[in-house]
Amino acid sequence: MSIRSLPAAPRQFQMYIDGEYTDAASGETITRHSPGHGVPVATWPRAGNDDTQRAIAAARRAFDEGPWAKMGAADRAKVLFRVADLIEQNAEELGMVECLETGKPILQAVGEIRGAVDIWRFAAGAARTMAGQAYNNMGERILAMVLRQPLGVVGVITPWNFPFFILSERLPFILAAGCTAVVKPAEATSGTTAMLCGLLQQAGVPAGVVNVVTGRGSVVGQAILDSTLVDMVSVTGSTATGHKAIEASAANIKKLGLELGGKNPHVVFADANLDDAADGVAFGMAFNAGQCCVGGSRLVVERSVAAVFTEKLAAKIARIRVGDPLDEATQVGAMFDEGHMHKVLAYIDEGVKMGATVVCGGGKVETQQGYFVQPTVLSNVAKGTPLLREEIFGPVLAIVPFDTYEEAIAIANDSEFGLSASIWTNDLTHALRATRDIQAGRVWVNTTLDNGPETPLGGMKQSGLGRDAGLAGIEEYTEVKTVHINLQPRQHWID
Ligand code: NAD
Repeated sequence: MSIRSLPAAPRQFQMYIDGEYTDAASGETITRHSPGHGVPVATWPRAGNDDTQRAIAAARRAFDEGPWAKMGAADRAKVLFRVADLIEQNAEELGMVECLETGKPILQAVGEIRGAVDIWRFAAGAARTMAGQAYNNMGERILAMVLRQPLGVVGVITPWNFPFFILSERLPFILAAGCTAVVKPAEATSGTTAMLCGLLQQAGVPAGVVNVVTGRGSVVGQAILDSTLVDMVSVTGSTATGHKAIEASAANIKKLGLELGGKNPHVVFADANLDDAADGVAFGMAFNAGQCCVGGSRLVVERSVAAVFTEKLAAKIARIRVGDPLDEATQVGAMFDEGHMHKVLAYIDEGVKMGATVVCGGGKVETQQGYFVQPTVLSNVAKGTPLLREEIFGPVLAIVPFDTYEEAIAIANDSEFGLSASIWTNDLTHALRATRDIQAGRVWVNTTLDNGPETPLGGMKQSGLGRDAGLAGIEEYTEVKTVHINLQPRQHWID
């Protein structure tokens, strides 16, 4: 049977605690159905608080006693390069699991795994750049040093939309820094995170350094947030979950890395190459069925070209191939689950009731199985409409026209979020001014959704705190310690 066909029975995964594969103490499991096909494809344990505490204790012990934090960065790098090679060798199988659990197209899923390999390699190299500073300019008496040390035990809580890629934007940097980890993948898409454990073990990551606990956010995730044995938690998810993390940290002053939601604008100036921009805006709104934190969901377009641009955009969107995630021709797969599909459709209906006009799409794609939404564009969207304010997390784009540069920036920044923005223009001044003026952690000019492990990612405003990836991504998981050394006889304070 081809690796790219539906499994006859759901694949069974276990958790990984202190170097051992394990089920939940309660014996409970979670079953995931493929959202593109409606068949059960995977099961994993539904952990409780006791399983989570065991994983936290293992990570704590591995950090405090184990070799990982204390070994030279060159040796950690060697292990991480081996992990990258193993992920590469298993990319097809990992991609297949990701495709079935998330509903994303198979070629995209495999592509994300291959992209993750590159991140693991970058982080492995970056391990050796983790350096402090020496201050030899503070006078004869004092030599000062700033040491960078691994932060400790890091909890990693990840979402369902890019399970392996998002984990790979955090975990290799955490390990490169010398930290240990307790990972909690999203309860609906835990397969590839569980599979990574075998590769970590094969590559020589010592027991207890990475522990994976599968289960509910309110149980496993909350226990990680509440634990005083965990030094930092990286949460990637909705802004609502970010608020929960901040509430937990109010009690224990835990460091938080938060990568949260977005309501990202595409700003299209009249001088842009409108064909390129139409293609980019269509890609940005429909990629991963719009279930992409940095995907563009607002189109801020100069009024003089709004009509012609909307026509070009609709023509592009009409040609997007939505369908079976296992078909290599598919560009947009399924929504995450039935409930989420209905939530997205309800946003469209509500927008229409509030006066918006459907330019294209507007409903469900009728199929025999699975949950698919037509890429949808709406114009005449009134200012207060949730379509313009809330993260819909579906292939839905709302259009707002502008007349001046200042108005464009004001509309783009009129959001509680500040995750990403894309500027489409051939005017150098527009491009450079906008990159300065836009409130977003990532800005693209004449492109969208480009990335690379060299460059940090993160959000402004309610889109998050901290940065992952790049050299900033390794610093994020370190603690800075200041040392002052007296080099002269002490001048006594008490005679
Ligand atoms: P979610 O917030 O529902 O869940 C994210 C993770 O948090 C899951 O593992 C979940 O189990 C866990 N969780 C839920 N409640 C928790 C609690 N009380 N304590 C601890 N953990 C808890 O998000 P989702 O629906 O899985 O993902 C979609 C969201 O993620 C969107 O808002 C999207 O924008 C965001 N996202 C952000 C980025 C980024 O880099 N900024 C990337 C991807 C996704």
